Amino acid sequence: MEQRVLRFETQAGVRIYSLPVEVFPQFYANVYLVVADSTICLIDTGSGHGNSNRDLLAGFVALQDQWGERLSLADVNQIILTHAHIDHFGGLPFVRQFTQAPTAIHIADRRVITNYDGRLLFASKALSRFLRHAGVSAAQHQHLMGMYLQNKEAFQTAPIEQTFEDGDRLCDLFDVVYTPGHCPGQVCLRLDEVLFSADHILARTAPHLAPEMITPGTGLEHYIWGLQQVARLDGIELTLGGHEQPIENLPKRLEHIFASNQRKIERISDLLKAQPQTVAQLSASMYRGLQGYDELLGIEKVGAFVEYLYLRGYVRPVNIAPDDDDRDPINVVYELF
Ligand SMILES: [Zn+2]
Ligand SMILES: [Zn+2]
Repeated sequence: MEQRVLRFETQAGVRIYSLPVEVFPQFYANVYLVVADSTICLIDTGSGHGNSNRDLLAGFVALQDQWGERLSLADVNQIILTHAHIDHFGGLPFVRQFTQAPTAIHIADRRVITNYDGRLLFASKALSRFLRHAGVSAAQHQHLMGMYLQNKEAFQTAPIEQTFEDGDRLCDLFDVVYTPGHCPGQVCLRLDEVLFSADHILARTAPHLAPEMITPGTGLEHYIWGLQQVARLDGIELTLGGHEQPIENLPKRLEHIFASNQRKIERISDLLKAQPQTVAQLSASMYRGLQGYDELLGIEKVGAFVEYLYLRGYVRPVNIAPDDDDRDPINVVYELF
């Protein structure tokens, strides 16, 4: 698929280029290059997998061919990562072959990059516990864990020079809007009337959500809070996501996302009203026929919604017996109440 570099310019004259990179087969992410007076900032790096690095370099060639912008990766003097998912940070070691630019990320996601192996161990144990809680069969557990760990060893821990938090201003250009949920350290970056919305808000699809039971700082509760932070921003005229096309009408897109979350909550409530069941059973009803990694993502997503309903007191587990051992509950059946 032919992907073109898009160019935008803010009212203050800052130039923004959107470089499409194929981060996984047939799955694209947007890397942004922001060119201001003294700042040449790369927002995200692609995955480093497959065609991603090649596409990133091709994007810089297209900058010149399409837009006459004579810049290369070596000119980049700041790297900002919107969150620590591999499709956004995996290209970091490749980018660093060209530039010594410092890399910045939200404090809550730093460990994923600076302590990659340790964090992976923690996260995979937590995922394993969650899958047992969710009620997947032993064979399915083994299958899903195997899929989760596939290719995960490819990234090597890398240094991070700078961290930031909500409200910080970066490069005297970007205001950080903390929007956890999809990832603990997910941020949106405001540059005047432009919002870089990363994976928090996308033009067509909803970002993946997993329950906080796996990773604190994720989950539906945080995600909705993050949407509310964005809904409060005034004067955003263009929203540029980490995937998919630009969003012209942010309030309308937000309205659609809030409504879609509500529909999912109602669907899960209806299924639980009909019959108490596990997260895995709910997921099988909601996302019939999902295969491969999508099956794992479906169970995680339903887990995030059920957890939200539990935290709000709308559902409760029915089959956890008082017990004096400290094993984690497994095959937990939820009911509406
Ligand atoms: Zn992501
Ligand atoms: Zn992404």
